[in-house]
Amino acid sequence: MLALKKVSKWFGGLPALQDVSFDIPRGRITALIGPNGAGKSTLINCVSGVDRAGAGEILLEDQAIQTRPAHNIAALGVARTFQNLKLFARLSVLDNVLTGLTVRAERSFALSMLRLPALRNQERQLRLKALEALDDFGLAERAHWPAAALSYGERKRVEMARAFVGDPRLVLLDEPVAGLNTDETAQIARHIRRQRNAGYTMLLVEHDMELVMDVADQVVVLDSGRCIACGKPEEVRSNPLVLEAYLGRMEATA
Ligand code: ADP
Ligand code: MG
Repeated sequence: MLALKKVSKWFGGLPALQDVSFDIPRGRITALIGPNGAGKSTLINCVSGVDRAGAGEILLEDQAIQTRPAHNIAALGVARTFQNLKLFARLSVLDNVLTGLTVRAERSFALSMLRLPALRNQERQLRLKALEALDDFGLAERAHWPAAALSYGERKRVEMARAFVGDPRLVLLDEPVAGLNTDETAQIARHIRRQRNAGYTMLLVEHDMELVMDVADQVVVLDSGRCIACGKPEEVRSNPLVLEAYLGRMEATA
């Protein structure tokens, strides 16, 4: 679905990503792990167009997207969540999820301006779709609440509903369980597995190794902006480089 070819990114001369290459296979969950500052969020930002890669190629089904603006990449079907939630606090939960649909419906929206009944019909369909997505993520009864009134765990799920509502080709999840308790984490894990079973392709940035080992089909390890390992979860877990660079350090700080 996505191929990264020697992607690099510098911030003021300091490398955040260095020659990162790996593939994200269709219909699978690829987990991206690595210590704090490894470049995981930077990579998601480059793929989604929030940041621009300094060098290298990012191919979405063979189409180069590394120079495209974020709205364009979103319209091509790349959806994401943010490490630090980005919801419209005063908008309703339903309206927040609707914003995930309008990024893909841009063109048909413009066209339907010419035919009002069709627009109303389309609006109804979009709202129905957003409500279905909320229901999928266990939030149907929160649809008309302002996003700010929800718990942190619920807001994480609203972001997921917004990411999935437009049937994206690729979903980038940046630490979806960070700050959640055990029950909430298990709940998100169930949602992630269900979406995978429904055929979605995901890149999961995550610190929770239990979750990664549980749901990932493939694990990519970043350390100081470099890809140091890539493989099946059990292979990566026993890779000495990874143990040293990542798990060793985790244990040392635990
Ligand atoms: P991770 O998500 O793996 O914790 P990040 O991608 O957030 O890591 O950061 C990778 C490196 O890039 C870090 O050294 C960080 O300080 C730096 N960095 C990230 N974003 C910026 C930015 N906007 N400006 C300058 N440096 C940045
Ligand atoms: Mg990060």
